[in-house]
Parts: sequence; C-alpha cells; structure tokens
Amino acid sequence: MSIPFLGPVLLAVWQHGPLPEQELLDLVPDVTSGTVSTALAALMQEGLIESCADRHGTLYGPAALCDETVARQAYAQATGASSCQGCGCTAAWPCPESCWWVTSELCSTCAGTRIVA
Ligand SMILES: [Zn+2]
Ligand SMILES: [Zn+2]
Repeated sequence: MSIPFLGPVLLAVWQHGPLPEQELLDLVPDVTSGTVSTALAALMQEGLIESCADRHGTLYGPAALCDETVARQAYAQATGASSCQGCGCTAAWPCPESCWWVTSELCSTCAGTRIVA
C-alpha cells in the first residue's frame, strides 16, 4: 500500500465518520482533495470503509462488515506505526477502552485477556 494519506484518511473516517469528503480535508493535515479521493477509493475497494448517499452528498463511514481490528491493522500497515500483535492497535488508534504497551508488541487490552485476575 503506497497511496499517500491512506492511513490518516482511514483513521479519520473510522473515528469521525460518517462524514463528507470535504470534511476530511480539515481533519487530515496537509491532504489535498485529489489525494483524499484516491485514498477513499482504495479504502472502499479494500472493504475498510463504505459510502452512503445523504441529502447533503456522499458520506464516508466505517464499513459495517469490517471488524475494527482489521481496520487498525490496515492502518498500522499503511503508516508503518508499531502496532499490537493481538489487535493491531497503535498509539494513534488505541483500543476503545484505551490501552498502553505491556511489551513493544502487546497492548494492555490483549495482555489482560490472558491474565486471570
Ligand atoms: Zn492489543
Ligand atoms: Zn490496544
């Protein structure tokens, strides 16, 4: 995956979506409208996000059939950020209940499922 801004656009759509393409220009620093269109098309092709028609235009949001773990892993892959081996979370995209690094490859959420309290 060598499309510029693929990771940041994916993150913005999952964290703030559904939203129109125009809003991504404000959410993702330094992105251009052409780049956003390319990234959105690639992400839809991968099944990571989906679009829906709205009376204000087309909105982009997380794909209903896509697991967040898969999206997080795609984000880590696209950005090269270090990610959790278990769930793919990164510093920019942590687990919903927030987490921290237990080891350099395992976050607290995943570590917690293996520890019997
Ligand atoms: Zn994890
Ligand atoms: Zn995590």
